Amino acid sequence: MHTVLTCSLHGETYAIDRLQNLSAAGKPLLAGYDLAAIKSTFTPDVVRQRNERSMWKFWEVLPVASAADAISLGEGVTPLLQCERRGEFSDYSQLYIKDESFNPTGSFKARGMSAAVTRAVALGAKAFALPSAGNAGGAAAYYSAKAGLPCYVFMPEDTPEANIDEAVVAGANVFIVNGLISDCGKLTRQACERFGWFDLSTLKEPFRLEGKKTMGYELAFDMAAASGSSSLTLPDVIFYPTGGGTGLIGMWKAFDEMQQLGWIGSERPRMVAVQAEGCAPIVKAFRDGVESAPLFPNAHTVASGLRVPAAVGDFLMIRCLRESRGTAVTVTDAELMQGVREIAARQGIYACPEGGAVWAAAKQLTATGWLKPDERIVLFNTGTGLKYNHLLKAEGLPRLDHTSANVMDEIAKRV
Ligand SMILES: *Cc1c(COP(=O)(O)O)cnc(C)c1O
Repeated sequence: MHTVLTCSLHGETYAIDRLQNLSAAGKPLLAGYDLAAIKSTFTPDVVRQRNERSMWKFWEVLPVASAADAISLGEGVTPLLQCERRGEFSDYSQLYIKDESFNPTGSFKARGMSAAVTRAVALGAKAFALPSAGNAGGAAAYYSAKAGLPCYVFMPEDTPEANIDEAVVAGANVFIVNGLISDCGKLTRQACERFGWFDLSTLKEPFRLEGKKTMGYELAFDMAAASGSSSLTLPDVIFYPTGGGTGLIGMWKAFDEMQQLGWIGSERPRMVAVQAEGCAPIVKAFRDGVESAPLFPNAHTVASGLRVPAAVGDFLMIRCLRESRGTAVTVTDAELMQGVREIAARQGIYACPEGGAVWAAAKQLTATGWLKPDERIVLFNTGTGLKYNHLLKAEGLPRLDHTSANVMDEIAKRV
């Protein structure tokens, strides 16, 4: 159970017993815990022995008094898959994919929404609203359905059909907006004021971050298991497809909490933010050596999760990249889609374009020498490719006449 909410920029505190969005300065609020008080009872062994098959096995560092209080659909506890040394992947001896496509609604947005909806319901929220150009809308729709509360989703016209349809099926009220995600955000804010809904926008309430930070906790257990060790350990490098940055900031927070709990030491992975060439505000700010990222004009990429031209957590992401001695890189849409095909064909994982992007970025940083193929590397596949079938249409497939006497010859020509 968290004990405090603080402004991520100025550090002043806010009441935890009522619904909160941004701080007075318009910055994200961060949840704090009395880690010293739980240190003796919340240990890696205790967590390992739990039967809870969701991220709520870490309930002590989430906004509940017990795992039973969670509004859960079984999110988290995703597999860390070691890549086979094959084709483009041959050089990498310790390359892993944390496969978030296993989550409810097929993306890691589930982790954040489970935590945010859980806390907001406990504090009396009666309806939810958010802007979304991708997976967030669907995840919010399903957790709202689980909570038995209405959900209002504002989506730009170019949102993939699968993301719109899944939200509608769950009973969400979807509005299609003739503008950008920022315009949808503005409508959300105004509608929340007018109709009393709770705003679930990314980093504009404190708990989507808390849900996503569980990826950092899980990774420490996953890496220990992968190396056959009982003590928790983190990889050398983490590649994260960065939109609003909730997962990046969340994992960085999780590592600090784990250190305070005595679970890990002060070593940290190098964090790599990966964005699309057509929408790269964080990469640009990182390269320019500035603390915050101005709006990226004409944002465009097929990877809808990366289409975030302005992020309220910009300074937190950039801080994390610097402190970790990490970096930030862009890939083109062609490169990230090629990445999807390679992960699918070589590793058997149908990754989303954002997952394809991190693999494309890893290849790029290997070529420059920044990344060594024998390092312990984790790529985040943040969702399933199934929602992006429209980008991967199969063409020119052989046709068979099953009544033809020569049908086996036709097949023989192609095997
Ligand atoms: C939302 C989303 C992202 C970006 O996540 P952030 O934590 O907000 O940066 C990446 N990939 C997919 C599939 C997403 O839906």
